[in-house]
Amino acid sequence: MIPFVDLKTQYEAIRHEIEPEVLRVLASGSYVLGPDVAAFEKEFAQYSGSNEGVALNSGTSALHLALLAAGVGEGDEVITTAFTFVATVAAIGYCNARPVLVDIDPQSYTIDPALIERAITPRTKAILPVHLYGQTADMDPILEIAKGRGIPVIEDAAQAHGAEYNGRRAGSMGAMGCFSFYPGKNLGAYGEGGLVTTNDASLLRTLRMLRDWGAEKKYAHELKGYNYRMEALQGAILRVKLRHLEEWTNARIAHAARYAEKLDPAVSPPRTMPWARHVFHVYAIRARDRAAMEKSLAGRQIQTGIHYPIPIHLLPAWSDLGHQRGDFPHAEKAADEVLSLPMYPEMRSEDVDRVADAVNKAAHE
Ligand SMILES: *Cc1c(COP(=O)(O)O)cnc(C)c1O
Repeated sequence: MIPFVDLKTQYEAIRHEIEPEVLRVLASGSYVLGPDVAAFEKEFAQYSGSNEGVALNSGTSALHLALLAAGVGEGDEVITTAFTFVATVAAIGYCNARPVLVDIDPQSYTIDPALIERAITPRTKAILPVHLYGQTADMDPILEIAKGRGIPVIEDAAQAHGAEYNGRRAGSMGAMGCFSFYPGKNLGAYGEGGLVTTNDASLLRTLRMLRDWGAEKKYAHELKGYNYRMEALQGAILRVKLRHLEEWTNARIAHAARYAEKLDPAVSPPRTMPWARHVFHVYAIRARDRAAMEKSLAGRQIQTGIHYPIPIHLLPAWSDLGHQRGDFPHAEKAADEVLSLPMYPEMRSEDVDRVADAVNKAAHE
């Protein structure tokens, strides 16, 4: 059996580094924020090409606080993609603002910058591109449109730790970058975690206050805040894992190259755009008869995933946006066709070959 992801094998490889850290934190008597989290913030910000980081309890919290810090509130609009994980738009909803959806570029699966301009209204308070599957959106045209109108760009980099756009790291290009450390992400905690990167001292102060009940000094609550703090254990664990991230990312990139070499072009292997260091959080192909492809691979003991089977505008939870089928045709076609193949650093090249062979056979069944 080739699993879709394998977190246990990775744990076995690093448990001798992780376990002493966990025991040290447990014995320290200090369990929320603290020195390990502060050190992780510095180290992860540096890794991501930003000055500062604010560590949180999830990627969704990162998006929520970044939007609030950008001033998004009741009645405002935030432009984002119709093809993403629901957390992106949920965070906009938490601010009582409205997600304004835009279709994707079918090659990159990321927001099509050419469609952003016409989505802007006087209520647009932020643009929220998503670096889907580990590849950044086409940021230069997005930043240019935003700059001309004074609209902040917030990056959803939850799938894009270490990804690059023309040499710039994901999360370092907009006003803020939002990361998730959900266990299955390229850098995963052993529990929940998230972080916002920024270079702006004023945003930094607001983000720090918002995550800790809106107070800089204990009990002096200046803002209506939240309990979104990162746990000390996760900070200590993520510091250890961050030291391995480049090696793991390069393994993903090597597996993707091997897949691309072996796979039949008829299954549309993912395209690495000219601007990208693609970090392959997800390796998605396309299958016109996806159900048959899934079934055939399952029959050969290969697990797959679908990211994502329903675009945002067709989700029952977001029917109040008033969209219908046909509104975002590229997102709809992607949702119908994409199939994610096994992808994790610890895969062996024999595993990649076995998956590729099975996909090629299924494509001609
Ligand atoms: C995982 C993910 C999130 C949410 O992160 P959590 O840590 O699970 O809250 C947001 N956006 C995208 C694109 C994601 O993949």
